[in-house]
Amino acid sequence: MNIPRVDLPRIVVVGCGFAGLKFVQTINSKQYQIVLLDKNNYHTFQPLMYQVATSGLEPDSITYPIRKIFKGKKRFHFRKTSVERIDTEKKQVHTTIGPIEYDHLVVAVGATNNFFGNQDVEKYAVPMKSLLESLQLRSMILQNFEEALNTSDIEEQNRLMNFVIVGGGATGVELAGALAELKAHVLPNDYPDLDIRRMEIHLVEGADSVLAAMSDLASKKSYDFLKKSGVNIWLNTRVESYDGETVITNKENFASKAVIWTAGVKARTLPGLETGGSKNGRILVDDRAKALAHEDVYVIGDMAEMRSDENPRGHAMLASVAGQQGKWLASNFNALARGKETKAFVYKDKGTMATIGRNKAVVDLKKFSFSGYFAWLTWMFVHLMLLVDFRNRLIVFTNWAWRYIKYDRGSRLIIREFKRSEPNIKQTETTKKSSV
Ligand SMILES: Cc1cc2nc3c(=O)[nH]c(=O)nc-3n(C[C@H](O)[C@H](O)[C@H](O)COP(=O)(O)OP(=O)(O)OC[C@H]3O[C@@H](n4cnc5c(N)ncnc54)[C@H](O)[C@@H]3O)c2cc1C
Repeated sequence: MNIPRVDLPRIVVVGCGFAGLKFVQTINSKQYQIVLLDKNNYHTFQPLMYQVATSGLEPDSITYPIRKIFKGKKRFHFRKTSVERIDTEKKQVHTTIGPIEYDHLVVAVGATNNFFGNQDVEKYAVPMKSLLESLQLRSMILQNFEEALNTSDIEEQNRLMNFVIVGGGATGVELAGALAELKAHVLPNDYPDLDIRRMEIHLVEGADSVLAAMSDLASKKSYDFLKKSGVNIWLNTRVESYDGETVITNKENFASKAVIWTAGVKARTLPGLETGGSKNGRILVDDRAKALAHEDVYVIGDMAEMRSDENPRGHAMLASVAGQQGKWLASNFNALARGKETKAFVYKDKGTMATIGRNKAVVDLKKFSFSGYFAWLTWMFVHLMLLVDFRNRLIVFTNWAWRYIKYDRGSRLIIREFKRSEPNIKQTETTKKSSV
């Protein structure tokens, strides 16, 4: 990897998501040599990926080049590479560009989609856990309307314009709201030859409410907002299979060539790292983020399971948790270097929020919850401020202001073609009759 050894302990950081970014921003590189590895050369602001998928923002407004973030940081080295395995005996990280030794290893590679072993759903549904996937989703949405134009087969048109979002968490709710806005304000102008009123948006959720992780008020209000926007909500409904044309659930079946999967995430794994007894694939760590199964290995962010009395199953997979853990762990390393004591992690819950579209959002703070226009302004302000730098904020703000005034979305571009898997005809024929 061509990185010189210097007379300082070397910390290798894997992943520049929310946790890795904050760690490297906070660590004192006068005390440590820092080597950051990420498979991408950019950091992604995942909470706004749904806006890329629904043509609201371009990818470069929610990403930021890693080299630019850390420009001028001394004793800092970045390599764009994918980590393949960890050798904790030899204290080496093996990557696609060769191995590197560490004195301390900080792992923060986040989470990936969880299809709960359903291979058909994995094959045919479109997930949104990375920037590339959100671009794929954008292409799929737009291509479906292009395809619908080219056929006079009404059933096929319906399948292409029938959107089924699986998962009523924040991502599913935000996507459903954004699709409803596309239907109301953008698609009728873009596709005057199609009767866009026939486009349907279904939100399918296994639990008995949407936004189940938030307050009752947030769940109820988001349900009402979505209903008013024309979204069909199916609660207590679990997807059993999908063959590329028909979604089968325990209640209804949906004829659809547009199934979006937001129903599950699981921690990424790295060969060589033991979970330490965690049941869900995350790495069990102590209150200093040290992996229980390994020495000199620290795990933070979505990948880490840090149990406490308040969180017996570990913290929620949230950007706020990951960012706070990154900053806190680096402060502990800085304290160690100064001969000071380290501190246990305490999560400061600053609230959760979700937006359902124009003027509509829900916000849960520690002591109270609110919804509607003021919540929407709060949501916008917080998300703008969380973006990495001023340029991103300015671009996103300009896009939002334009959209608000003109009811328009500027990024309706199919940059890379979405390749649909061929439907599994056998299942389709037996199930088509019972589809809505
Ligand atoms: C669509 C969506 C919306 C969300 N909305 C919200 C929200 O509104 N609020 C909120 O708090 N949270 C939200 N989250 C969750 C939040 O984004 C995550 O909790 C957060 O990103 C976790 O941070 P992390 O650092 O653990 O991992 P990530 O941010 O996922 O970063 C992981 C990094 O590791 C890199 N990487 C992965 N594998 C390898 C490898 N093998 N080798 C090298 N590098 C690798 C990746 O490229 C990435 O840069 C959302 C997530 C998604 C997907």
